[in-house]
Amino acid sequence: MDKYEQVIELAKRRGFLWNSFELYGGSRGFYDYGPLGSTLKRRIEQIWREFYVIQEGFMEIECPTIGIEDVFVASGHVGGFSDPLCECKKCGEAFRADHLVENVMDAAATLNAEQLTQVIREKGITCPECGGEFKDAYEFNLMFKTTIGPGTGRQGYLRPETAQGMFVDFQRLSRFYREKLPFGAVQLGKSFRNEIAPRQGVIRLREFTQAECEIFIDPRDKSHPKFERFADKELTLYSRQAQEEGEPVRMKLREAVDQGVIAHEFLGYNLALTNAFLTKIGIDPVRLRFRQHLKDEMAHYAIDCWDAEIETERFGWVEIVGIADRTDYDLKAHSKVSKTELAVYVEYPEPKLVTSFVVKPNMGKLGPIFKGKAKAVAEALKGLSEAELSKEEIHIAVAGEEITLSSDMVDFAEETVKVSGESLVPHVIEPSYGIDRIFYGTLEHAYDAEDVGAKAAESGLKGQEELDELESAAEEEVGETRLVMHFSSAVAPVQVAVLPLLTRKELTDPAKAILAKLMDKNLMTAYDDSGTIGRRYRRNDEIGTPYSITVDYTSLEDKTVTIRDRDSMRQVRAPIEGLEDVLYDLIYKGRSFESAGKPFNFQINSE
Ligand code: AMP
Repeated sequence: MDKYEQVIELAKRRGFLWNSFELYGGSRGFYDYGPLGSTLKRRIEQIWREFYVIQEGFMEIECPTIGIEDVFVASGHVGGFSDPLCECKKCGEAFRADHLVENVMDAAATLNAEQLTQVIREKGITCPECGGEFKDAYEFNLMFKTTIGPGTGRQGYLRPETAQGMFVDFQRLSRFYREKLPFGAVQLGKSFRNEIAPRQGVIRLREFTQAECEIFIDPRDKSHPKFERFADKELTLYSRQAQEEGEPVRMKLREAVDQGVIAHEFLGYNLALTNAFLTKIGIDPVRLRFRQHLKDEMAHYAIDCWDAEIETERFGWVEIVGIADRTDYDLKAHSKVSKTELAVYVEYPEPKLVTSFVVKPNMGKLGPIFKGKAKAVAEALKGLSEAELSKEEIHIAVAGEEITLSSDMVDFAEETVKVSGESLVPHVIEPSYGIDRIFYGTLEHAYDAEDVGAKAAESGLKGQEELDELESAAEEEVGETRLVMHFSSAVAPVQVAVLPLLTRKELTDPAKAILAKLMDKNLMTAYDDSGTIGRRYRRNDEIGTPYSITVDYTSLEDKTVTIRDRDSMRQVRAPIEGLEDVLYDLIYKGRSFESAGKPFNFQINSE
């Protein structure tokens, strides 16, 4: 089993996630989140909200998952959201044509369907399933279509991203934020893409969760008000140049922006924010990098675009977040299709004197002569230059008809007025997160199969006292491989396990009382009284429970319990009184395990 299989095996067995519709044989590209998976996913989403909604101040909105056609015509998804599809003539299996070609040439992603067909023919690429020949490749639109309403209805689509909601709602959002740039809004929710052949498990889904943020900024000033917060933060950047040289570089954010590696402060700040979020939820910083899009990979309108990528054993480096400066492309596209101005009015620091050439058609004279056409005549006059208007006879064309006017029918002059601001179309910075891929990354990066004995010996180097402790803790587990999920306490689906040593009432009663107090503290708990204590520790290691509390006979005498730390397997003895506060601080306040109680050598009672 490779790492992916090991992780998925554990995930299925322990209730994190499994294929949807298993009962009916399943369907590719769909996964169910089980009890622990849903909890872990919600925790990740909640931390995301803490970052973007609470700390950055971008409020959350919720739009329908079905969109009407106009929206996706404007966004370009109807016209161009497709992948090249290739079907086998013999067995009918579908493949991404660019993926087939990838193995024989670089830059396959830049070829169109026709070019891909040509390469497939020239290189004699055949179906990996049955060896059959391929039909011609064609562009397959990835949006799921549906109809809105009964009968033939109105064409609708399941949204392929959550972002469009923020663009469509721009006017309302702009008013909500009193047109004060920068402002932003986020949306967390399901997106749907009819992926051609999702063979990468949870990495490529047909229904997945996105967390997207659209930040509307002043195009004239892309500095970030909080840049200093991350200016000295070092990031792993796989810039265009670094990609040419083949090695990512570690760089301080300030340097990267000053040297033009990252286009500007606003984008740089968002890279660092993404880095802070991903490491907080447990993505291994060593297996995390930011890769800049190559020129031919980036949308034509984008100024700069970076993907946060994580390293996985089976799939290599996988994009989990995209962060882009999308300029004014989306707002202008919606503005054009909806025929509505999507802009904000920005006041100048000081009013400006603006001189302009003003044409004033004399409607009193034009009206009686041109009647219904007078308005069109006036409009045509406004388009003329000073030289043309200064002639005795003025010539214009209205709806193909040549019209001659006398000079008294129009006045014109240079006028200077005081202007206090202007309308401008904001630029958009978009961090776009794929929650399912982040979820998988959290699992894979947390997963470990440890040799327990070796771990104890290794830690022995730290000093005799610790060695004694570790050895006794390890005794129950020596010679075994311990499967453990090293989840950060912030995301662990179960935060504390309460384990009475035996299923006797004198031990289960106080254990349940402790459980109730932990629940009152809003901690997610598990109560487990079946099997040996070693087995129960093992079960909790597998689901990544950071702390286990054991109630034993000593507890009845001195009102203490043991707390076991998942990662080090060390134990301390702590008073039952105030235990819930100690656990809360360990989980949320970064309190050190050593300060939680007295070190304790726990001997297993094998009764
Ligand atoms: P995109 O709009 O393609 O840049 O996608 C934004 C993010 O959504 C990516 O970084 C991925 O994490 C995630 N994503 C895109 N497509 C899928 C998919 N088919 N399955 C799961 N996640 C996806």
